[in-house]
Amino acid sequence: MTVIYALLALALGMAAGLVVIVIDEFRWEARNRLPRCTTCGELHRRHAAHR
Ligand SMILES: [Zn+2]
Repeated sequence: MTVIYALLALALGMAAGLVVIVIDEFRWEARNRLPRCTTCGELHRRHAAHR
């Protein structure tokens, strides 16, 4: 029984680590991707100067 719990804890830990890695990747991707401007329709940072 103890072995099963140990394996379960290990699996949960690995799953949690994987989730953290995936979320981190998503956040990095979202931060690095340039948003499409609603004013001119081009890809650049928000609040960029429009002249
Ligand atoms: Zn723009």
